[in-house]
Amino acid sequence: MITKETKPLTLTLAVYGKGGIGKSTTSCNISTALAKRGKKVLQIGCDPKHDSTFTLTGFLIPTIIDTLQEKDFHYEDIWPEDVIYKGYAGVDCVEAGGPPAGAGCGGYVVGETVKLLKELNAFDEYDVILFDVLGDVVCGGFAAPLNYADYCLIVTDNGFDALFAANRIAASVREKARTHPLRLAGLIGNRTSKRDLIDKYVEAVPMPVLEILPLIEDIRVSRVKGKTLFEMTESDPSLDYVCNYYLNIADQLLAMPEGVIPNDAQDRELFTLLSDF
Ligand code: ADP
Ligand code: MG
Repeated sequence: MITKETKPLTLTLAVYGKGGIGKSTTSCNISTALAKRGKKVLQIGCDPKHDSTFTLTGFLIPTIIDTLQEKDFHYEDIWPEDVIYKGYAGVDCVEAGGPPAGAGCGGYVVGETVKLLKELNAFDEYDVILFDVLGDVVCGGFAAPLNYADYCLIVTDNGFDALFAANRIAASVREKARTHPLRLAGLIGNRTSKRDLIDKYVEAVPMPVLEILPLIEDIRVSRVKGKTLFEMTESDPSLDYVCNYYLNIADQLLAMPEGVIPNDAQDRELFTLLSDF
């Protein structure tokens, strides 16, 4: 079996950002880009919505919490093949799942997922592990991926709300970085051709901008079709330019960038900085 002693350390990424901003879409395509670069990749969906890996597998895979429930929470009865599903380009996929809507704690589920995967020694098998985490809440278990991550990535658009969420995530990274070797790799601008507010923000709170992706109809369609852009490009080579955005992000991450420990802005400062008037 491959162990950490015989292979280079696993690159671990945690993707955060406001709900609906494009984390899962971006995550699936970055995972695929990393796989296209020859890496063995595991993507772990940590959103109770459990749709993180949909464009990789083309269906909603059973969640860890479903499987745990089926086995009466007997961790020892669970095998990797019960919870890890093969996706496009050989990317392995896991969905943490969550409690029934409106009940229980989703963060707890993320903590349990990480625990189970560690018990299964699953983490040792991969070159890259990507956690796609719930929206802008970085409390409790939802912060757990930051305990393992080398880099946090934040997806944002050019609007106040997403940058406000990004700033709170930056604060969580700064806190975690006190005790963990965690860095913020940078922002990924998504669904925007404008970047004036993003630029204002990174001027005030210095951090890299890894890429800016415009709103692209084919990305929206890819979600509905349950395919990554790479898979769609197989039948429509004109989409190659979209894949290049994700390959560019993947290449920057594989180069192990320095990243930053961010200094978040105070909430009030941010309102002044990013207001249009
Ligand atoms: P999140 O995981 O942050 O909640 P999703 O990845 O599910 O967000 O994306 C929300 C919606 O936005 C999806 O329908 C997706 O197809 C669409 N989307 C994401 N990025 C883009 C983009 N660059 N251009 C067009 N649509 C996008
Ligand atoms: Mg998502």
